Amino acid sequence: MAVFPAWFRGTYEEFLELVSRVRDAGGFLPAKVEEKNVILFLGLMSDEEDAIFPIESPIQSIEELKAVVGDICFTPLFRKMLSFIIECYLLRQMPLLQGMPRIGKTYAYQTFKNLVYGPQASYIYLDCSSTTSEAEIFDAIRSAYTANAFLLVHHFDNLPHATQAIFRVLGGHRGDLAEEIHEVHLGQLRRGPKTFVGFEVTYPEVIKGKNTIEPGMARRVVWNAVPIEESYKMERGVYTVGQCPECWLNGEWIDLYPNTDDFFECSNCGLQLQKYSDGYIVLPFRGKGKIKPYSLPAKTFMDWLSPLYGVKGSGIDAKFYLFNNEQELYAYVQGFKRDDSTSS
Ligand SMILES: [Zn+2]
Repeated sequence: MAVFPAWFRGTYEEFLELVSRVRDAGGFLPAKVEEKNVILFLGLMSDEEDAIFPIESPIQSIEELKAVVGDICFTPLFRKMLSFIIECYLLRQMPLLQGMPRIGKTYAYQTFKNLVYGPQASYIYLDCSSTTSEAEIFDAIRSAYTANAFLLVHHFDNLPHATQAIFRVLGGHRGDLAEEIHEVHLGQLRRGPKTFVGFEVTYPEVIKGKNTIEPGMARRVVWNAVPIEESYKMERGVYTVGQCPECWLNGEWIDLYPNTDDFFECSNCGLQLQKYSDGYIVLPFRGKGKIKPYSLPAKTFMDWLSPLYGVKGSGIDAKFYLFNNEQELYAYVQGFKRDDSTSS
């Protein structure tokens, strides 16, 4: 299923063709929409529907685009987070992205910045702590408005409620980012066409020392919470890129290397992975430790991500999961462990 957009001139079938073209291009494709040069982005909505967002971008060439999005780990979670940020940007509303550390919140915001403002453009990065001063916050807000820039408020939940409340000044009358600000410390400010503010928070109920969101601010942002389980799954998936899944279950990080049979093998336990369809599978017999001389570790091969998220290529829709979670992987490894005595 895909969300049929108002800007598309054509039938639903033609739109679905466009969706698969953007997918084949790796999720981002330069195009012309309503006489404007845009980057089409294959987003993913919360109910698992594909969506195409046309992003007005200073990026002109395929080479420039590649430099910005070429290395992206194009997972469903990444697509959802970037879709959310872009939707808010188009509606001029302030996004608040909540999720566990290291799931790629900042990365999604930075990709958004590179696409919308260009890779050379700088943005204002306010890394909040419990001691961030009022003056620093006012400076950041002033810069975003006067420089027509993007302000990323990182670790917003490190701020106590009193300082979080300073950002209330950004709330406009229609639930958008304030068009005009009149304030004692800030004076008079007008929002530029690209002025934008985004927030990042974790879970105060899980992470020590974090604060809840001040109620006045909670009403002024569009809140998107990435479930904790999703973060956990994602985090593990990312960290097992090129490492042995069995040793990983035992808490060890062992790089896989290609062996003389052209499987990826673990030097610690002998587990082997073989390319299969779009991903990799664990072989039901152990390797003999014959690693190819001078070979590079599996993590340097860019055509796959991990045994957990067995997905080919960078920028490919991650629908082909070999394992959806740790338990499935564990059951799988256990299953072939029993066969070891008979198969070798
Ligand atoms: Zn191993």
